[in-house]
Amino acid sequence: MDHQSELEKSKYRNWVRGGLAYKYLKDGLEGFADDVVLREHKRILQAINPTPGLTCNQSNLRNLKPLHKSVKDPTGKSRCPWRQNNCNCMHSKKQECPNKVCDAILEEILKSHGSTPPAPNWKNTVAQNWCSSPWEVAKCFINAPGYSDKSSAADIDAPGLLHLFINNTSLHAYISCAITGTDIFSKAVKIRNDIFHSPKMELEKPELNECIDNNVQVLEDDKELKERPEAKQAVAKLKQLKQDNFIITTYNEAEVCRAAMTSITNRSEELKQVIQDAKSDIKLKEGKISKGINEQTQRAIDESLEKLEKHSESMLETMKQTIKLLKERVRQLELDSSEIKQRLTEQK
Ligand SMILES: [Zn+2]
Ligand SMILES: [Zn+2]
Repeated sequence: MDHQSELEKSKYRNWVRGGLAYKYLKDGLEGFADDVVLREHKRILQAINPTPGLTCNQSNLRNLKPLHKSVKDPTGKSRCPWRQNNCNCMHSKKQECPNKVCDAILEEILKSHGSTPPAPNWKNTVAQNWCSSPWEVAKCFINAPGYSDKSSAADIDAPGLLHLFINNTSLHAYISCAITGTDIFSKAVKIRNDIFHSPKMELEKPELNECIDNNVQVLEDDKELKERPEAKQAVAKLKQLKQDNFIITTYNEAEVCRAAMTSITNRSEELKQVIQDAKSDIKLKEGKISKGINEQTQRAIDESLEKLEKHSESMLETMKQTIKLLKERVRQLELDSSEIKQRLTEQK
């Protein structure tokens, strides 16, 4: 093998190891995440519900009337005090929670969300399950799609778990890392997305080391996490991963490729949604000001819409190509492992 292809191969191996660094991070975080999500759920139920044992499974987010009321801005227009677009507080005819539970949980979720304005991901959650399932509340803090059917930390990938710790300010009491946007938790999400969405599936050695070191730091958060056995175990695995003689098994490689495939697929869905939202937002605004619009402005709007569409099309195309490559690789790996299995049986 010539030098160039040897080099490419080693960058690909680094990429796989980068993927594994997130599998280990997830393994180390899972138990802790389940624990704190449970504690937070208890806290919310205690905080909102003075009658012990009263729960509700009847409210629907689409119809739920929130506890907060809309306020008038200086021009006399009503707006949501939490600055939520399209919040139910702005609409009459919404239904109160019959048990006065779900509306209070909704306020707690808004209160705990770290973004300004708060941005819970309502698409990931079903309010009917808020009282019975701690993760149903927790998933509001994962600001990416694809988690609506998940119900425990085991079902949720590393970025999902990281989002939860980053966005839920109530959980900050359980970690010593200060979430600032440039902290190790936020950095872990950023590096992970860079790796998993890299169309070339390559990673340089220094970047791999940075990624591993950062994940170790997350798991060594010294408030609580550091002392948990599964976190310690994951740190040990991450340190092994850093060694040059680390052997990548076919199983591990296929797992990383599958995880990357899921991640890119979700991301392209997300992108499509963003474009859709941007388009309808523009159309809405256009409709509102259509009378005052002149030809020049109309042309400018059309042009920027077209640009947006072209740009996103090329991004989606790159994603499609990467998914194709990953699929091919997984197929090859599956073939390899079944051949090995067959050979082993023959030898027996
Ligand atoms: Zn509101
Ligand atoms: Zn309710």
